[in-house]
Amino acid sequence: MINKSTDNTPASLRKAHRGLFLSDIQMSPGISRAELARRQGFSEMAATRIVRELVAAGIVEEFSVDTPKKSVGRPKTGLRIVKDGIFAGGITVSAYHSEVSICDANGSPVARAHLDDPPLADVAKTAKFYARALHDLIIASGIDQDRMVGVGVSLSARTQPEEGRIVKSEYFGWGGDDGRFCREIRALTNLPVEVENISNSLAIAEMRFGAARDISDFTLIHAATFVGASVVSDHRLVRGASEVSGLIGHFRAQTRPLECVCGRNDCLNLSATGFGLLSQLGKLDHQRFDHSRLSYYATSLLAALEDPEAAPLVQQAGAQLAPALDCIVKLLGPQRVILSGHLGTNETYYSAVETALRNDFDYGADSDFELTKGTFSSGDAAALLALHVFCYSNRLDYQRLA
Ligand SMILES: [Zn+2]
Repeated sequence: MINKSTDNTPASLRKAHRGLFLSDIQMSPGISRAELARRQGFSEMAATRIVRELVAAGIVEEFSVDTPKKSVGRPKTGLRIVKDGIFAGGITVSAYHSEVSICDANGSPVARAHLDDPPLADVAKTAKFYARALHDLIIASGIDQDRMVGVGVSLSARTQPEEGRIVKSEYFGWGGDDGRFCREIRALTNLPVEVENISNSLAIAEMRFGAARDISDFTLIHAATFVGASVVSDHRLVRGASEVSGLIGHFRAQTRPLECVCGRNDCLNLSATGFGLLSQLGKLDHQRFDHSRLSYYATSLLAALEDPEAAPLVQQAGAQLAPALDCIVKLLGPQRVILSGHLGTNETYYSAVETALRNDFDYGADSDFELTKGTFSSGDAAALLALHVFCYSNRLDYQRLA
């Protein structure tokens, strides 16, 4: 979870050590200094020095840990994250969750604003729109700007987070932005920015705060208008050589009278998804995915999921996902497969996936992996992404907080 770095200066090592400690304390609240030192391979003296720095900056605190029986000697003290010691901002650019949000150091939401009718046609206009909204939310929440660690941006696009670039968005119809989106957010909020696609943001959120906290290998499927996946292996996101991993929406599936963003008519995006479902329900007057209809797709899908008459087609869509999951499970051997997104977490769709895996692919109770629903919405994931990247890593700007 710590960025690879060939930089071994004392300053960068201190940053890396702080990140490791914070990450461990967040994952194991109540951990003692001695245990922390043991786990990280530090002397207790060295661990104490790092912990003191974190306590001095108001990010970590010591507290008495309740012991079950009356114990003799000094009360045991443990370490935990100070809930309101730092905060993180989130921007979710989506037709479902168009919002800006702030969460505390534990990842609990403290403020959020839903934004209707975002401009989505132009990268710079979109970025300015959300940046202003987040800036206003920070002011309105009364949170000290100096305690904000950064902003996470979550959206349907291929991104290069380390360069702060959007490479391409098939969903919004954007090309490469050369870092424009992140620059606009940074300029208006004066905070560091991390941009990730929605599946990866959700995977990071689940890994640190949710359904994948206790495991090292999982695959997260985000199913809504389209479908995408995020793969985590040995606690790391698998991005692929050119950041293209997880494009399961273009797996070959049934041929449909629809056209995917890639031009084909047999992509999984056209059957196991909201787009495919709306077509089956007769809600589309066009065959080709239309970037100007994103909010129509979202509201129509949400309405369909409330409609009992649509249930058989929702089931069909869910069953269409199972062959893709079978391939993923056989290839990657994850401990868990997490279904997220409005469609993925819908009970009818989810049950259909489960049933098809059992009946058509022989995954019974003794399977090596567990299918589960995600705990976060894409609206939650953006701020959690920022927390993960700018607090629980070597990228924490300690000097600003100290
Ligand atoms: Zn396609």
